[in-house]
Amino acid sequence: MSKAWDAIVIGGGAAGLFCAGVAGQLGKKVLVIDHAEILCEKIRISGGGRCNFTNLHSSPANFLSQNSHFVKSALARYSAKDFINLVQTYRIAYHEKHQGQLFCDDSAKQIIEMLLEECAKGSVHIRHPLAVESVSNEAGEWLIKTNAGTERSKSVVMATGGLPVPAIGASAYSLDIAKQFGLKVIDPRPALVPLSFTSGEFDNLIALSGLSMPVRIAAGSKGNRYGACRFNEDLLLTHKGLSGPAVLQASSYWVEGETIHIDWLGAVEANGRFSCDALFNNEENRLKLTENILASVMPLRLAKAFAEQKKLLGKKWAEVSKKDRQALKELITNWSVKPAGTLGWKKAEVMLGGVDTKELDGQTMMSRSHPGLYFIGECVDVTGHLGGHNFQWAWASGFACAHAV
Ligand SMILES: Cc1cc2nc3c(=O)[nH]c(=O)nc-3n(C[C@H](O)[C@H](O)[C@H](O)COP(=O)(O)OP(=O)(O)OC[C@H]3O[C@@H](n4cnc5c(N)ncnc54)[C@H](O)[C@@H]3O)c2cc1C
Repeated sequence: MSKAWDAIVIGGGAAGLFCAGVAGQLGKKVLVIDHAEILCEKIRISGGGRCNFTNLHSSPANFLSQNSHFVKSALARYSAKDFINLVQTYRIAYHEKHQGQLFCDDSAKQIIEMLLEECAKGSVHIRHPLAVESVSNEAGEWLIKTNAGTERSKSVVMATGGLPVPAIGASAYSLDIAKQFGLKVIDPRPALVPLSFTSGEFDNLIALSGLSMPVRIAAGSKGNRYGACRFNEDLLLTHKGLSGPAVLQASSYWVEGETIHIDWLGAVEANGRFSCDALFNNEENRLKLTENILASVMPLRLAKAFAEQKKLLGKKWAEVSKKDRQALKELITNWSVKPAGTLGWKKAEVMLGGVDTKELDGQTMMSRSHPGLYFIGECVDVTGHLGGHNFQWAWASGFACAHAV
C-alpha cells in the first residue's frame, strides 16, 4: 500500500478538480482519481464549447433542493465574484451574454487548463483513467481500492457528478457510495432537458420546428418536491417537442402528468413593448386580417398557426366576434399542454435529486454520519437554474469541502 493522502477526490470534473486545487494549495496531500480517458468532458462541451462558467446574479434563489437553505453557506463563502477574480488572474477573456451569464470569449478549454494549473500549483496528483473498485473505512482510515492497487486517505471526496450524457462517462457512483454508507438519496431525474409531446394540440406547431420566440412559461406547483416556477425566456419549437431556455428551465419543475402553461405574449409584454389588451381591443385593426394583427408581435408562421387553430385564418378582425377574440387571446396567453415526457439523460444538462442534503453539513459538505466522507457538485441534491449556476455550485461546494478535508 502507498502513503496516506489527506484527501482522495473521486471524479476529476468541475467540482473535483476545483476542490483538489484549493485543498492542495492549502498544503493538503491530494489525489484525484477519474475513470475517464479525458478529464472534464462536461466542461469542454458546456455552453456550446464556451462554458457559461458562472452567473453574476447567482444566489440561493437560483437553486432547487429539498432544503433550499442548504446552498447558502457555501455560496456565501465562494461567490461568482470569487470565481471571476480567478478567471481574470488567468487573463481568460469573457463576456456577459444574457441575464448575468458569463461565457469564455474563446473556449471552455481555457477553464479546464486553469483548473489543471491550479491543481499543479497545489501539487495535486491526478490519475486517470483509473477505475475505483471499492470505498471502505477501516478504523477511521479510508481505503480506495482501484484496478491498480489500494490507496489510503484521511478523507474521501465523492465528485462523480450526475447522470446526464452517459456517452462521456457519467455514472451514479457517488450515489452508490452514499447508499453503501446508508445515506439517503433523493431519486435522480433529468433536468434542464427538452420536453416531448404526443398531444394533438401540438400537431400544427410541429411544422414550425426551428421557430423561436420569448415567452412566459409556468410549470410545477407549490406542493411539488421543488415547487413552482415562472420564467420569461426564449422557447424553441423542435420536431420532437419544445426546447430552448424557457422549456429547459421549466423542465426542472415539471412533474410527469402535469400541465405547463405558456403565455406566448407574456415575455414581450413584460419588456414593455406592447399591451396584450390593447392588441386585442384595438378597433383600428378592424380591417386587418387576424393573422396579420398577431404577426405584429410574433412570427407570421406562428400567428397563422394560432389563427388557424381557432378557424380565424383569413378573417378580418371586424368579422371576429368578441367571444372568438377572447378564445384566441386565451389560447395564446394561456397555452396549456401536457408534455409526454423529457428527452432523458442523453439530452439533459443536469440531474435533479442526489445525496439528500439532510445527510451533509452545509459548511463542509461532509457526511453527518461518516466523518471524512464528503459529497460535492452535481451528485448532491442541489440543481441550478440554467445560466452558469450549476458550475457556480461546483466551485462553491468544492471550495467549502477543500477547507474542511
Ligand atoms: C451539454 C451540457 C452543457 C452544460 N453547460 C453548462 C454551462 O454552460 N454552465 C453550467 O453552469 N453548467 C453547465 N452544465 C452542467 C455542468 O456541466 C455540471 O453541473 C458540472 O459539470 C457538474 O460538476 P461535477 O464536478 O459535479 O461533475 P462533472 O463535471 O460531470 O465531473 C464528474 C467527473 O467524475 C468522473 N466520474 C464519473 N463516474 C466516475 C467513477 N465511477 N469513477 C471515477 N470517476 C468518475 C467523470 O469522468 C467526470 O470527470 C452543462 C451540462 C451539459 C451536459
